[in-house]
Amino acid sequence: MQTLVLTEPEHLILTEAPKPGAPPPGYALVRVHRVGVCGTDLHAFRGNQTFFTYPRILGHELGVEVVSINPAPESPAPGTALQVAVGERCAFEAYLSCGHCIACRQGKTNCCTALQYYGVHIDGGMRPYLTVPIAKLHPAAHLSFDQLALVETLTIGAHAVSRPQLTPGEFVLVIGAGPIGLTVIQFAQTAGARIIAMDIDAYRLAFCREHLHVEFAVPAGPAAFATVQEITGGDLPTAVFDATGNPASMNSSLPFVAHGGRLVFVGHHPGAVTFPDPEFHRRELTLYASRNSTAADYQTVINLITAGKIDTGAWITHRAPFDEVITQFPRWLLPESHVIKAMITV
Ligand SMILES: [Zn+2]
Ligand SMILES: [Zn+2]
Repeated sequence: MQTLVLTEPEHLILTEAPKPGAPPPGYALVRVHRVGVCGTDLHAFRGNQTFFTYPRILGHELGVEVVSINPAPESPAPGTALQVAVGERCAFEAYLSCGHCIACRQGKTNCCTALQYYGVHIDGGMRPYLTVPIAKLHPAAHLSFDQLALVETLTIGAHAVSRPQLTPGEFVLVIGAGPIGLTVIQFAQTAGARIIAMDIDAYRLAFCREHLHVEFAVPAGPAAFATVQEITGGDLPTAVFDATGNPASMNSSLPFVAHGGRLVFVGHHPGAVTFPDPEFHRRELTLYASRNSTAADYQTVINLITAGKIDTGAWITHRAPFDEVITQFPRWLLPESHVIKAMITV
């Protein structure tokens, strides 16, 4: 079968690899139909993704169909096992957690001490067939393969929004309206929050207004603070999400938070984040990190899409068939391409 391999930065090749055989116990063989491309893949292509080694098969946002299953001999406790059948369409939970570390024991599999991410630490799904743990498949009969491949991205926003427990009507500022910021906006809206989106890119702000019907879209810059203050009647937003992963933005996000409010870092960067302690203390601020997502977030997202409460219509801005990925991929990196989500048909 044909497989896309990133052999080194900027070097994506299409190569021939054997089709996987019968899955071992506890695993399923799946046919990959769609692969969504995200910031992680683009960073890996450029050569600036942390903890990334080459060669690697990219792809962690997958819409798959179950080809064969080999159930584990001892079935897990009733109620915990997902029922998966041959022929079913599934979203794929792209993280492997150890199951016994302190985080896993608390159900926080998303921040397992030994977490492995498909397409980053282990080979992902840019290939027609893949063998995966049955427990990582989330069946969703009513979702299209496109929607199934969007589920992983959307879980990032669902998880981030679950961190501060939003209340209906509160003002939420989302700094950074890239794909991750957009997912945060969608779930904060579902929670009933009033959204203020902030970005340096006018195209992204227009996208927020037009496709997500965001109430306030504010250009980042020197005037932004006064604008946000005015929108909130002087109170400032009670929850602020930074989805930029940009250290300058993260360092300057704290003053936007209302007294008694919460700040959530969804985006991350490899260096330090600093802010003045008096600003932190004066607010009695609560600071959250949000990392990846859990099986529960997958169920939340699938249920909301199935119920028509999350609109995925505007997400896919670019497409390529499998054999055109090598030529299209570098173009998706260009800012003028305005990629929200590129989708590969396998
Ligand atoms: Zn992703
Ligand atoms: Zn663990």
